[in-house]
Amino acid sequence: MTKVLVVLYSGGKHAEEQPKLLGTVENALGLRPYCEKHGLDLVVTDDKEGDNSTFAKEIVDADVLITTPFHPGYLTAEMVKKAKNLKLAITAGVGSDHIDLNAANEHKITVAEVTGSNVVSVAEHVVMTILVLVRNFVPAHEQIVSGGWEVAAIAKAAYDLEGKVVGTLGAGRIGFRVLQRLKPFDCKELLYYDYTELPAEAAKEVGARRVEDLKEFLGQLDVLTINAPLHEGTRGLINKETLGYMKKGAWIVNTARGAICVAEDVADAVSSGHIAGYGGDVWPKQPALKDHPWRKMQNPFSKGGNALVAHYSGTTLDAQQRYADGAIDILDRWRNGKAQEPANLIVENGEFSTKAYGQRSKK
Ligand code: NAD
Repeated sequence: MTKVLVVLYSGGKHAEEQPKLLGTVENALGLRPYCEKHGLDLVVTDDKEGDNSTFAKEIVDADVLITTPFHPGYLTAEMVKKAKNLKLAITAGVGSDHIDLNAANEHKITVAEVTGSNVVSVAEHVVMTILVLVRNFVPAHEQIVSGGWEVAAIAKAAYDLEGKVVGTLGAGRIGFRVLQRLKPFDCKELLYYDYTELPAEAAKEVGARRVEDLKEFLGQLDVLTINAPLHEGTRGLINKETLGYMKKGAWIVNTARGAICVAEDVADAVSSGHIAGYGGDVWPKQPALKDHPWRKMQNPFSKGGNALVAHYSGTTLDAQQRYADGAIDILDRWRNGKAQEPANLIVENGEFSTKAYGQRSKK
């Protein structure tokens, strides 16, 4: 019997209140009726940390793993070795860095994700977070909730987005959608840094200019938005040295992956005021540590500049429906020996199927 192991976040009473929370243990991406109908053995858990976790125990004889980037079952090289039956790892969402992709290749495990399923959800969150930072919204709101009223304390660090230079590190599906949504704000310039050039028509549509040198790119920005996958070439890319390339008072929004930034270096840059603010929803390890330095960091000038939230930008209810349907489609194709949608494949037959994880593919 085919065994499908699913690692998701727990919904508790919220899943009862909101049946559209498909990406929870309780609602299991809508997989229960599918697995029952087709006679698949389904194990669903949120217990994923350590050797004694349900994830570690059940992966040993699972044929298929399904997990999300929001509460990822981290499939390390060591776990891949133990997972003797594993043939398919599905990411219900976008971003498969929770899987050791080199180990998956070595063991000929196919890794597929629901490409595009939540790219608009994330792009909207990016634009919101840029505005929240640039307009100094968080301290303004906190002041009101705490009974205060001191306009100057907020206004001294509040700006318009109009006239600023905004750049995306990674101009794929999300990065491009961010640029599209920023166009009407009349920024001074929209820039991008990516080893893949945007098609001429797309670049023209958004009026974006490519900058090929990272130092030159970062040095021009008022706002950096990070939209590249996490891989060997992006891990720790935003660090003490590269933060030093940025202008004093710039803002950073990272909804890609927490580990693209060196956490301590970002916290130091915000706390010193070199970076005016940092926002986003992704953390180096999830759930984030209770005492993670990003939770309480603030810039010294306005006691603001923190627009961090838990990882939820790509798990809106609209996105959950799309990635739940997409995960079932990938499973169904695999069971029936049908080819996967090419755009959904990350690795297959021991090779990278996409250039997005560091230009390693032959394609
Ligand atoms: P995509 O594959 O369409 O685009 C990624 C782009 O990044 C590509 O154009 C690629 O060439 C570029 N890139 C890769 N390495 C780079 C590097 N070293 N420097 C510059 N550019 C580089 O992917 P996407 O759909 O836009 O998603 C991007 C990432 O966003 C995902 O891999 C995932 O990590 C993250 N994401 C987060 C959420 C969330 O909820 N926060 C949801 C979806 C995706």
